[in-house]
Amino acid sequence: MGERELEGVRTLTTVHHINCGFIQVPGGPKAVCHCLLLEDARGLALVDAGIGLLDCRDPDGRVGRPLIDLVGFQFDEADTAARQVERLGFRPADVTDIVLTHADPDHAGGLADFPAARVHVSAEERAAVAAGNPRYLPVQFAHGPDWRPHPAGPADRDWFGLPARPVALGFAAEVLLVPLFGHTPGHCGVAVRQSGRWVLHAGDAYYLRVELTTDDHPVSALTAARADDDPRRRESLEAVRRLARDHAGEVEVFGYHDPAEFAPAG
Ligand SMILES: [Zn+2]
Repeated sequence: MGERELEGVRTLTTVHHINCGFIQVPGGPKAVCHCLLLEDARGLALVDAGIGLLDCRDPDGRVGRPLIDLVGFQFDEADTAARQVERLGFRPADVTDIVLTHADPDHAGGLADFPAARVHVSAEERAAVAAGNPRYLPVQFAHGPDWRPHPAGPADRDWFGLPARPVALGFAAEVLLVPLFGHTPGHCGVAVRQSGRWVLHAGDAYYLRVELTTDDHPVSALTAARADDDPRRRESLEAVRRLARDHAGEVEVFGYHDPAEFAPAG
């Protein structure tokens, strides 16, 4: 359920949409963990890693009761990226690369299930993890991920008016890290180009799509409260709003948590 393929042609990269867990903040709606699995002749790559097998097996030890209660984590091995990769007929070892929007616990728990994968993040996010920012869970990185931090650099390109950092996976599809800082110090969107059209995985630039059109929804207060730097988050949200408004024909925008974006009605 919910899997959508943008392209089925073998010579292109296929984009699978997979939900790698549920969370439900007390009093809030049930939210998904909307990851992507990129299937290419060269291998597989994930965009975000969701809730992982180890989290499911030892929630209290890994995530801890206070965070579980605050965020409303729900643990089911069947939802993990590792199990979904297997259900699609692959092995977890086929996942060569993971592109992380950011390293929060509901996005990074699955990293340990793909210990050999290269983990691509912005250099700013990698630095925040290394500095011990308390919003992250060190145990989720205890296996020693093969970090590939991406700083701003001369290869950056202009992507619809935003600076974007190429992630060279060697796949048919072009992949970019698009800085949308504020939710965390190095939070990025991940753009993937498929035959002239883009998808932008906006991560946690917003929690619910309604935030693209209003500031008055109750979820806006939650998004603001969880931000590392709220004025910066607001700038990033404005950038995503502009893309969704002015470039809808060229870019499909979706976030990590909105269930309606994962399984659109109709
Ligand atoms: Zn999140």
